[in-house]
Amino acid sequence: MSHGYHEGPEDAILYDGCDECETRSKSIEGLLGLDSPNLRLLIDRMLAVELGRIDRTPTAWYRTGTEKVAGRNLYYVYVLVERLEAYTFFDRLTREEGRS
Ligand SMILES: [Zn+2]
Repeated sequence: MSHGYHEGPEDAILYDGCDECETRSKSIEGLLGLDSPNLRLLIDRMLAVELGRIDRTPTAWYRTGTEKVAGRNLYYVYVLVERLEAYTFFDRLTREEGRS
């Protein structure tokens, strides 16, 4: 599979209408196949869009629908990592309380 014709905003990372971009956007495995600069850019954009949405002060946007799919998938990973950190924190707290 390779990139088809890209039509859309010049600064998009993943484009609508391109089989490879659309396939990559749908899975974490696909997103991990992005080169580092583009993955970093997508993560930065995801944080700006998704956290802006939580604060109700959206200041950023995804450039394409395909990018939105990718950004939402990355956001779910972000939430998962946050929860894992919370579990680890409370596990550590419980263990420390058990010691005293
Ligand atoms: Zn593409």
